[in-house]
Amino acid sequence: MSRKHEYGLLIDYEYCTGCHTCQVACAQEHQWPAGMGGIRVNEMIQTLPKDKYYLSYLPFPTELCVLCSKRTRKGLKPACAQHCMAGCITYGKVLELAEKMIEKPRMVLWVPK
Ligand code: SF4
Ligand code: SF4
Repeated sequence: MSRKHEYGLLIDYEYCTGCHTCQVACAQEHQWPAGMGGIRVNEMIQTLPKDKYYLSYLPFPTELCVLCSKRTRKGLKPACAQHCMAGCITYGKVLELAEKMIEKPRMVLWVPK
């Protein structure tokens, strides 16, 4: 694996409340114009039997995510991870993050191109 892809974000969306704080934190950190950003919070609605619905949120980075390289070079967490009160976003080495995925379901691992 090349070093370029050594780091990523592990997103544990089980406890995501859909608050969009990660999106706002990213926009403030990188001064994104309206409509652009490094992460989006997607809303997923599943229809279940007996007219029941299941709502979940999946925060997912976009192609604009630069993994907050200026912050992480200084030893800081990425802005999205820093400000998520639910602790859904973890920054780290991809191989170590992948190991964490064995511990629980409903997580996704994202690695920038
Ligand atoms: S990942 Fe965290 S900050 Fe982002 S919407 Fe979910 S709970 Fe809110
Ligand atoms: S790591 Fe930084 S650039 Fe990427 S989504 Fe999070 S705040 Fe935005």
